[in-house]
Amino acid sequence: MRYLIESYGCQLNMAEADAMDAILRGRGLERASDPDKADVVIINTCSVRKSAENRIWGRLGFYSAMKKKHPLRLIVTGCMAERMKDDLKHEAPFIDAVIGTNEKAEIPDYILGSALDEADGYRFLPSYHKEGEWSSYVPIMNGCNNFCSYCIVPYVRGREVSRKVEDVIAEIERLEADGVREITLLGQNVNSYHSTYNGHDVDFPTLLEIITPYLDSIIFVRFESPHPKDFSDHLISVIADNERIASHIHLPMQSGSTRILQLMNRKTTREAFLSLAGRMKERIPSLTLSTDVMVGFPGETDQEYEETLSAMEALGCTEAFMYYFNPREGTRAASMDGQLEEGVKVRRLERLISEQLERQRRIKESMLPFSARAIVTGESRDDGSMYLARGEHNDYFAFTPSSPHKAGDIVMIDASELSGNTFRGHEHA
Ligand code: SF4
Repeated sequence: MRYLIESYGCQLNMAEADAMDAILRGRGLERASDPDKADVVIINTCSVRKSAENRIWGRLGFYSAMKKKHPLRLIVTGCMAERMKDDLKHEAPFIDAVIGTNEKAEIPDYILGSALDEADGYRFLPSYHKEGEWSSYVPIMNGCNNFCSYCIVPYVRGREVSRKVEDVIAEIERLEADGVREITLLGQNVNSYHSTYNGHDVDFPTLLEIITPYLDSIIFVRFESPHPKDFSDHLISVIADNERIASHIHLPMQSGSTRILQLMNRKTTREAFLSLAGRMKERIPSLTLSTDVMVGFPGETDQEYEETLSAMEALGCTEAFMYYFNPREGTRAASMDGQLEEGVKVRRLERLISEQLERQRRIKESMLPFSARAIVTGESRDDGSMYLARGEHNDYFAFTPSSPHKAGDIVMIDASELSGNTFRGHEHA
C-alpha cells in the first residue's frame, strides 16, 4: 500500500506528520511519489488562519477530482478536522475519514485496518525524527490554556498536556544515536511544561537540566514557543549556565501597548515584557532575540501602534515574524469592536517590516567580524565552492571551506561580511 501525507501549518503538525510517516514505513507501507500513485492520502490540516483553511479546501477539490479517476482513501486530520468535525464530512462527503487531533496517533493503525476509537486525550507519538535529518523537533507538550483572544489553538488543540520526561529522554537518546546535531523542543506554550520524574515535580527549566547529561552529538537545544508570562528567572539562569541551550530565544511580544496586550489576553504588560527581555540580556550577554508581532488589532490607535514600533526598537531582534490581525472565526477578537480597515493594517505592517529589516541589518553588521560555531546545511547552489551553515543564533552563513563537508558537520567560521541576511566568511583555519 502506498501513502502520501500533505501537512500544513505549525512545526508541531510537521513533527506529527514525520512521526506518522516513520510509523507507516516501519510497518511496510511505501511513500508515494505523487498523489495519483497513492492508495491513501492524509491531509494534516491547519486552522490558524482562514487563508490556511482556504488552501486546504483547494486541495480537497483536487482530491475530489482525483478520486473520480483513481480509487484512494482520503483522510483529513489536524486542527481544521478538529474544528469542523462532522461539518467537514457533510460539506465534503468524498472524504473517507475526518480524524481530530486527539486521535492523530491512531491513524497508522486505522490505515492498517483497526477501528478508530474516540481518544480521551492527546497521545504523543513515539518518535518524530525524520530519517537522515541533522535537526529534529521534539514535541514535549500539546495544547494551550491561555486563550489569547485572537487565537484558535486552545479550541482545536485542547488543553495543555505534557509528554512524560522518560519519553523525552528516550527520544533524545534515539536522536543522539542517529547523530542529530540540533533539537527544538516544541509546544504551543512550551515553558508551561509540567510533569513528574522520580517522584519530583518537573517544570520546563528542570526538564532542560534533566536532559542536558544526555546531550553529546546534539550541540544546540532550542525551544518554541515560550510565553513571556511563564518565563521565570530560573529558566533564564538555566539558559545562561548551559552552553548546549542556544542563546537565541524566540520571545513572542505581539504588541508593545499594554492596553492592546490586555485586549489580546496576553497576561503581560509592555513594561513587564521589556523588563523580562532586559533581565535576559543582562544574564545572557550573547543573547539574540526573535519575536512575533501583530499590528492592526481591533481598536489599535496610532499611538498604540507607535508603542509597538518603539518596543521593537527597544527589543532589538535579529529576526521577527510580523503580520497584521486577521479575524479568526470562533475567537473573541473576531467579534470585537473597532475592527480596522485592511488598508490601515497593511500600511502599519509595511512600516513595521521596513523598520525591522533595517534594524536587523544594523544589528548584524555591528556583530562583524566574528567567529562562530555552525552546522553545515549543504553546498551553496549559487557558488559551488562555498558551503552553507546555520549557527547558534539561527543565523545563516555562506563560507569557503578548508576541507570537504557534509550536512551535519560542525565547523568554525570566521565571518567577515553580511550579504542580505547571510554572513559570508571562511572556515577557521
Ligand atoms: S499562548 Fe496564546 S497565541 Fe500561543 S497558542 Fe496559546 S492561545 Fe494561541
